[in-house]
Amino acid sequence: MPLVLYDTWSRTLRDFTPIQADHVGLYCCGPTVYDHAHIGNLRTYVFEDVLRRVLTLNGYTVRHVVNITDVGHLVSDADEGEDKMEKGSRRTGESAWAIAGRYTEAFMSDWRALNLLEPALWCRATDHIVEQIDFIADLERNGYTYCTADGVYFDTSKQDDYGFLARLDTAGLQAGKRVALGDKRHATDFALWKFSPPDSTRQMEWDSPWGRGFPGWHIECSAMSAKYLGPWFDIHCGGEDHIAVHHSNEIAQTQARHGTRLANFWMHGHFLTLDAGKMSKSGGDFVRLQTLIDRGIDPLAYRYLCLSAHYRSTLRFNLEALDAAQSALERLRRAYVQWPEGGMPDANSVERFKAEVDQDLNLPRALAVLWDVVRSDLPAATRRATVDRFDAVLGLRLADWKEDVPDIPTDIALLFDERDKARAAKDWNEADRLREQLRAEGWLVEDGPGGQVLRPRDTGK
Ligand code: AMP
Ligand code: ZN
Repeated sequence: MPLVLYDTWSRTLRDFTPIQADHVGLYCCGPTVYDHAHIGNLRTYVFEDVLRRVLTLNGYTVRHVVNITDVGHLVSDADEGEDKMEKGSRRTGESAWAIAGRYTEAFMSDWRALNLLEPALWCRATDHIVEQIDFIADLERNGYTYCTADGVYFDTSKQDDYGFLARLDTAGLQAGKRVALGDKRHATDFALWKFSPPDSTRQMEWDSPWGRGFPGWHIECSAMSAKYLGPWFDIHCGGEDHIAVHHSNEIAQTQARHGTRLANFWMHGHFLTLDAGKMSKSGGDFVRLQTLIDRGIDPLAYRYLCLSAHYRSTLRFNLEALDAAQSALERLRRAYVQWPEGGMPDANSVERFKAEVDQDLNLPRALAVLWDVVRSDLPAATRRATVDRFDAVLGLRLADWKEDVPDIPTDIALLFDERDKARAAKDWNEADRLREQLRAEGWLVEDGPGGQVLRPRDTGK
């Protein structure tokens, strides 16, 4: 059974075959580091991480590249308003450079907490100014640019199929434009290079053949993906919001310079929304991973929640669903730790699981296969080995999990010991009585293959 993935370019499910045998180039648009990532952003990275793990499961070596946008992303996608980094700097009083450093670090910490695999390469926009200038110079040479008072723009009217990825009605957009174009010639034209204001100095600015300024947001991804993966690679990912503007513009630029649409597959994760509506970094409705951790939620429970919804459906976030994910993960961990090592995976279950993830990453159904195995009458060691295989894709770190050892008061520890002795003497009545007594004191005793286990009753730990 081939791996099948949904390609936004063709709007179809397509069999995946890599451009170069066994090697897959994967580029994922990374964070704009002017603030913390919210859990919506993180949902997209979980989807991309699962994609990478499924590619690996299929025997491919994946070169995963993620960029860090630390300059040039303006407040509005229409190239207007302030640079988000400089805005962040005004908000906090720190320099734009310090902000970029701090929020990049915070982002990496979320990345690790969610057990996202480290990319082959992180690349920062500000480290690739030369590559971006070279790219723009080639676009100019090829006749795709024009200059205005505030920057160098890409002329989208030069491409008949501009906006195909988003199925944009460019003629309609142009005819119905209500927003002021400024000096732009067409509604869909976009900035490649913006000039610094004539009367002030920006914190982040560079010299260029066109004047001092900074790169537009889209050019960094075209320039860095071409540098690290070549101008024609396998898969480009991002959130669904990138289809209409950012990815359409990345394609336009690369088409104009290299004659390719960048990637063979374009894949997009759908949004996480709050019950109140869309979550955005600029809105007040901002939930961070740390917000969940502060409420006692394990970051991997958030990962589990993401796995429980297909990446191409909207995930409506609420605390009940998150609590349910945390309980499911806890049940899974408790079952898993009881199983001994040393078994072989059950080939039939592994095949069923793979068939689900190979069908456009159908993780909800793959989780159903997982629970079938947990509840099956397969030998415990077989269940463990099988679930280990699944976890290479799920990334829940089951094998690393250790139960928090609670502080046990001395009187409880004595009762627990007594019960152990009663069990050893096969005095089941006494063992049951002590179990009840412990329960009344707020402690649960469970009998597992490794002996009896004690945990506090109220927290469920
Ligand atoms: P940004 O830091 O805003 O550039 O976004 C980082 C990534 O998160 C991009 O791939 C976006 O498409 C994605 N994204 C933004 N908002 C959401 C959301 N609410 N749900 C899922 N992904 C999102
Ligand atoms: Zn990008």
